[in-house]
Amino acid sequence: MELTDKNYYDKASSLEYLSVSLFKEFMKCEAAAHAELKGEWLPERDETPLLVGNYIHSYFESPEAHEAFLDRKDAKGVSNRDKMLNKRIKKEKVLKKDFKVADTLIERMAADNNFMQLYGAGDKEVIVTGEINGIKWKGKIDSLRLDLGKFFDIKTNKDLHGKNWVFKDGRNLPTTFVEAYGYHLQMALYRELIFQQFGISCEPVIFGVSKQDPPELMTIHFETEEMQDLLYDGLATIQEYQEHIKAVIDGKEEPRGCGMCDYCRSKSSFANNIYGALDIPLR
Ligand SMILES: [Zn+2]
Repeated sequence: MELTDKNYYDKASSLEYLSVSLFKEFMKCEAAAHAELKGEWLPERDETPLLVGNYIHSYFESPEAHEAFLDRKDAKGVSNRDKMLNKRIKKEKVLKKDFKVADTLIERMAADNNFMQLYGAGDKEVIVTGEINGIKWKGKIDSLRLDLGKFFDIKTNKDLHGKNWVFKDGRNLPTTFVEAYGYHLQMALYRELIFQQFGISCEPVIFGVSKQDPPELMTIHFETEEMQDLLYDGLATIQEYQEHIKAVIDGKEEPRGCGMCDYCRSKSSFANNIYGALDIPLR
């Protein structure tokens, strides 16, 4: 299956290609991710963060892409433009708070020469595919500069210096938002897919932007030994779990339930049978 802008997010393409978002869903709970992929379960998910992300990304893609995003309608015929409005204020059109914040982030980024020269001048939303140990993966690069040997990704966060945690060696350790949200894993995968598709080794760069007032804009490079190790860890995580996840998607292995998410709690087959309080799994 050849991936295009039209079918990239289709379920059929996710049955053939793994993606970082699907991988992360499976890491959270295989049973829930599998049921959703098979169309057996529709989770209640706040779509606002996704809309905000697309609002910002399409702005820097092109005026046409931004208009197309605003006009796009869902299955019920409601446009994104309408979804962005605060419904409690009927007299005039007022944006919901999340989109007002998004506008300040856009303003902050658009005013930054470094950001505009690097991210702004790149090819946007470039679809890449490749294989990791024989398993097919897909990715979408926010902004690609093959001429500079770099690719860029915008990541918004409440606070770029906030405390985040990663579960390692049996305990929670403090870490940055980059590792906590698995962005190192995404950057490592994208670097590999870009290399497979174009034959050029590119360095990832994250433009982190905080949802504070005023927002902070941070350029995060992966050039130091420490950051290269983090990328290595990311790819190692993919290699460790991808085979089982692919086998579950292909119906060759059974999904494991986490026992505590909405889906597992709704299915008695994924209920925990705990023998003592010390065995209770913690999130
Ligand atoms: Zn679960």
